[in-house]
Amino acid sequence: DTEVPAESQGEVFLIGAGPGDPGLMTRHALEVLSQADVVLLDHLAPYQDLPRWAPHAEIIDVGKIPGKHRVPQREIDQLMVRYALQGKKVARLKGGDPYVFGRGAEELYVCEKEGIPVKVFSGVTSSISLPAMAGVPLTLRGVSHMFTVVSAHQKLTDSELDQLSGLLKDGGTVSILMGVKTLPHTIAGLLERGVRPDMPMVTVQDGFRAHQREYFSTVGTCLENYDQLKPPAVTTIGNVCAAVGENREELMGKAFETH
Ligand code: SAH
Repeated sequence: DTEVPAESQGEVFLIGAGPGDPGLMTRHALEVLSQADVVLLDHLAPYQDLPRWAPHAEIIDVGKIPGKHRVPQREIDQLMVRYALQGKKVARLKGGDPYVFGRGAEELYVCEKEGIPVKVFSGVTSSISLPAMAGVPLTLRGVSHMFTVVSAHQKLTDSELDQLSGLLKDGGTVSILMGVKTLPHTIAGLLERGVRPDMPMVTVQDGFRAHQREYFSTVGTCLENYDQLKPPAVTTIGNVCAAVGENREELMGKAFETH
């Protein structure tokens, strides 16, 4: 093994790449990508422009396809560490924000244990930007002053469903990630706990891609077209979803009442 000169000490950049539209990459992200020697790329990160953004880098796709993990997390960690210890600048490019269900903190910790410097670059998270794309704000004066982002990768527990139902009944907003497979369980749980069947919701599938789809519905009707729904998708539930549709005037009226 060759010795690494001090000035070429490796480092890791944990980069949030946003939900898929290259325009939602931050300027910081683009700047560090241009210096990268290696890019470890996630499944949901934008990739078409990578050769231009990271012209000197070896690009390694470690993306995960839901259900079948292509590269196990441990191997991703090992790759990241190995390249950094070789003195390389490693850009770890992740979909959305690295700290929203992105294992960002875990990867940072793994590097820290090896004495590798890490910089974190926040990204635009799908949990907010996808409903926004569909016209839905997660907060709205006089309507919702709280929102929760939840992973439904595993079925939500009774206690979690209790909490989320309470939040929704109090006018809050819930954005669900990784929740397509478990949606029937989630919806049944919310209805059982007294969430109104006419509570509006929206699911945005393949956000910021050519085949993006938006499904507006209610908690009571959302499963009617369930067979059309495919991951990746973000489901947002709450009164704010009435910002689109026939109840828009009423909803926006509430927002201005309190001024
Ligand atoms: N760190 C990411 C989330 C990673 S978890 C972020 O902040 O956005 C992966 C989940 O994010 C997917 O299952 C889906 O629920 C959501 N997601 C991310 N990008 C998406 C996109 N472009 N379209 C639809 N869903 C997306």
